[in-house]
Amino acid sequence: SLYLKRIEMRGFKSFADKTVIEFKQGVTCVVGPNGSGKSNITDAVRWVLGEQRVKTLRGSKMEDVIFNGTKHRKSLGLAEVKLVFDNSEQFFPLEYEEISVTRRVHRSGESEYHINQMPCRLKDIRELFMDTGIGREGYSIIGQGRIDEVLSNNKDERRMLFEEAAGIVKYKHRKLETEKK
Ligand code: ATP
Ligand code: MG
Repeated sequence: SLYLKRIEMRGFKSFADKTVIEFKQGVTCVVGPNGSGKSNITDAVRWVLGEQRVKTLRGSKMEDVIFNGTKHRKSLGLAEVKLVFDNSEQFFPLEYEEISVTRRVHRSGESEYHINQMPCRLKDIRELFMDTGIGREGYSIIGQGRIDEVLSNNKDERRMLFEEAAGIVKYKHRKLETEKK
């Protein structure tokens, strides 16, 4: 099964310093006062998985994911988040024990993506996660709006969730890409 072992953040939203969150086996709960950064953690995960819609990330422009300073600390020029997944059971079709996916953005707007430290395109990250249930449109991060989606009467919205669960999104995506050519 899919196992997210670790999140490493630096300069992402309220996480100015390098912050490492380890997920042990079992359930992890994050607790803390309002505004302490709990939701920023799920934003970080979504962001690495390829979220480009700034609204979903609760900002107004992509730059808003970069630490923008406080009274006592100046802003940073770069945000970086790395997700480390266990791959000892070859959940991903790559011959590595661990798969890390990194996204970095500079204030200049320049972005970089890495899979196991190797530069790649956002498209490669999206493909890696398609049908795993954790992609950008995946169901592993259920925000408040998503619950409404599952319960909604909109056939297309519900269908998308089931297609991802059934593992056919990748094929639909490839078909569309081929048709474009
Ligand atoms: P709640 O319990 O209310 O849901 P929360 O723990 O989920 O709170 P978040 O929404 O994750 O809190 O964090 C919000 C905090 O993150 C705010 O204090 C906000 O100022 C800070 N924040 C957001 N973006 C940035 C940024 N770019 N730079 C610095 N701080 C930021
Ligand atoms: Mg919150």
